[in-house]
Amino acid sequence: MPSEDCVFCRIAQGELPATVVHEDDRAMAFEDLNPQAPEHILVIPRRHTTSVASLEEEDRELAGHLVLVAARVARERGLDSSGYRVVANVGEEGGQTVPHLHLHVLGGRSMTWPPG
Ligand code: AMP
Ligand code: ZN
Repeated sequence: MPSEDCVFCRIAQGELPATVVHEDDRAMAFEDLNPQAPEHILVIPRRHTTSVASLEEEDRELAGHLVLVAARVARERGLDSSGYRVVANVGEEGGQTVPHLHLHVLGGRSMTWPPG
């Protein structure tokens, strides 16, 4: 998918506004536009890849980095002691609506299991 057609590529390139809470050379984290919990942050790679399912062996370091960014953002937002959820939806039945890999960090309320 060309980056101009991808909403998260456009956020990563600064072409669309977002409330950014973390930025580095490989990743970004910003507030979800339609939060499903008091704290709802999305962590994305700057480089376009579709989902967890499109990750390759060479993305091992990037995948680990995204998880560490999720944990760091959760810690910075005071979610460590109460707990939180990190979710990656994959594909249609996984409930993915934006085809650019992202981790949801959800917190500030009790989560239910199983998810819907
Ligand atoms: P998913 O359904 O797992 O693909 O998650 C996509 C998420 O992106 C949803 O929670 C949306 O609310 C969120 N979202 C879509 N567009 C934007 C945007 N421009 N800025 C922030 N969050 C967005
Ligand atoms: Zn993209």
